[in-house]
Amino acid sequence: MAREDVERVREAIDIVELIGSTLDLRKAGKNYKALCPFHQEKTPSFYVFPETQSFYCFGCGASGDAITFVMRTEQLGFREALERLAERAGITLQSSRLHDDQEDEHRQRLFELNRLAAAWFAHVLWSTAFGEPARAYLERRGVDRATAERFGLGFAPDAPAALLRYLTQRGASADELVQAGLVVRRDDGSLVDRFRNRVIFPIRDRQGRILGFGGRSLGDVQPKYLNSPQTPLFDKSSVLYALDLAEESIRAQRSAIVVEGYLDAITAHQFGYSNTVASLGTALTERQGKLLRRLADRILLALDADAAGRQATLRGLELLRTALADAERPVADPRQLVRFERTLGVELAVVVLPEGFDPDDLIRQDRPRWEAALARPVPLVDYYLDALLGSQPPAHPREAAALLERVAPLLLELGDPVQVDLYTRAVAHRLHLPEETVRRLLASYRRRPVKSSSSTNGQQPGQRPLTTEQQLIALLLRYPDAAAIFLEELDQESLLDVRHREIVQALRSGVVGAETGWPDELTEYVAFLRERVAAQPDLPAPLARQALRDALRRLRRERHDERLRSLLSEVRVAEQTGDRAALRSALELIEALKQRFPEFYPERSPYFRDTRDPVT
Ligand SMILES: [Zn+2]
Repeated sequence: MAREDVERVREAIDIVELIGSTLDLRKAGKNYKALCPFHQEKTPSFYVFPETQSFYCFGCGASGDAITFVMRTEQLGFREALERLAERAGITLQSSRLHDDQEDEHRQRLFELNRLAAAWFAHVLWSTAFGEPARAYLERRGVDRATAERFGLGFAPDAPAALLRYLTQRGASADELVQAGLVVRRDDGSLVDRFRNRVIFPIRDRQGRILGFGGRSLGDVQPKYLNSPQTPLFDKSSVLYALDLAEESIRAQRSAIVVEGYLDAITAHQFGYSNTVASLGTALTERQGKLLRRLADRILLALDADAAGRQATLRGLELLRTALADAERPVADPRQLVRFERTLGVELAVVVLPEGFDPDDLIRQDRPRWEAALARPVPLVDYYLDALLGSQPPAHPREAAALLERVAPLLLELGDPVQVDLYTRAVAHRLHLPEETVRRLLASYRRRPVKSSSSTNGQQPGQRPLTTEQQLIALLLRYPDAAAIFLEELDQESLLDVRHREIVQALRSGVVGAETGWPDELTEYVAFLRERVAAQPDLPAPLARQALRDALRRLRRERHDERLRSLLSEVRVAEQTGDRAALRSALELIEALKQRFPEFYPERSPYFRDTRDPVT
């Protein structure tokens, strides 16, 4: 919302018109120039570029966008300048600090209600007679008390409105409780607890705050498992159960085990497999995959082995691959990062469980077999091929062709030619087809325009790629440690978008932490940038520094080239018209540009013809 405010203003204001209303602008090629308002000069070196909606002074280096111009000429802060321009453009800003605070307060209130509810569920489980059936259930399932307490388990008694009464006495309103998903309003308007006669599994975020609950029925009531509905806090598709307890271990091992259910995760933790999380569904969602990718290099999927589980695993794998493949990978240094281009940057493998076992059963009943399965996960591609091709060779050539159509996209995704070759042969062998046939089909696939698989996946297909400037800022946000030295040397001249300057300034001053403290005009935008790079593989410190250095250099190169191009076109015009004064001033500005970007003007060798001249 706040992000849209800034964008709407930037779109509504034309920088030429804005600056032209205070300065005497003259046309210079495609651009405009004037005497610089920020330093004393006799010939104009202050340029306005309509194309990039920015200004730049070749004399003093002042630069920026429309909002920056107003900030500098009228001595205003970011927020005030934004308001001034919004007024000028007739735009009503949507955001206000008040609104965000209210929103925040509302969420805090829901967290508080969840916390109270969880404490009450736990109290009922451990300290009342009502909890007896649940205690017996946990004992039967072999969950020890220490583990149960670590996961915050509880029990919702078989009473229509016990929690409702408890929380109402503590000042909660009916509306709040319905919003929190703890209470259901029936058609006749009466209120009833959502969870009744169920063992309660609190679902927590990475910080351990309770987002929602899962409840397992102890009676015959269906469904066996009931979750909180979608609430302002709880979104099932983006939650990984037990991540708060597993994160440290996943980071340390760079490896995560994904199971399906609450008890699978709890049992795994109880037996020491503390890098385990549960997907709480039959498939891993894109957002879950991205969440994990930031922590782990290796993701092991340990899902049920029965037919449904197998299908679920396949769906999970497809989704995860999509999530990872869609990630924008840094292309900063081609040599060092080529690996990320070629592969997904994460190892995906399937822990194949014996027929009829889920991880919970297997860990308890046959730990050596679990260990063995864990030690020999099947690489994703092999598992996928096994599942798709089955164990029997196809009976009919048409069937073989259909199967080939299904596996071809997967083979193409491998990228690495050695792997492609290897699997091509394996597939040909299993389908009883000549290798040549498989190769021909793959080649025809390669020529076909690839339909983005992401379009079916909730991701916006038309998402604009990040600009060089945005990429740099996103990297600074992503790698605060590596960013420190770059913040020092980053010149504001290269940043044209005022939001990026504000972000850099906030980072420099150290007023913002990892997640908190952004001015509300920037919170949404910062979140947007973070989100866009969230799925990129986490770079180790030296590579992060390299990526930052490259992004910074790329940005300076871009700025330099844009400015040089505009001056060179002026030179050309001046030469054609024989305007010696214009020619001289343009050449002077080129000289000034060299001073500001010395790295692109290395000293020329007196012995060799230099081929390093910048492109025009
Ligand atoms: Zn100037």
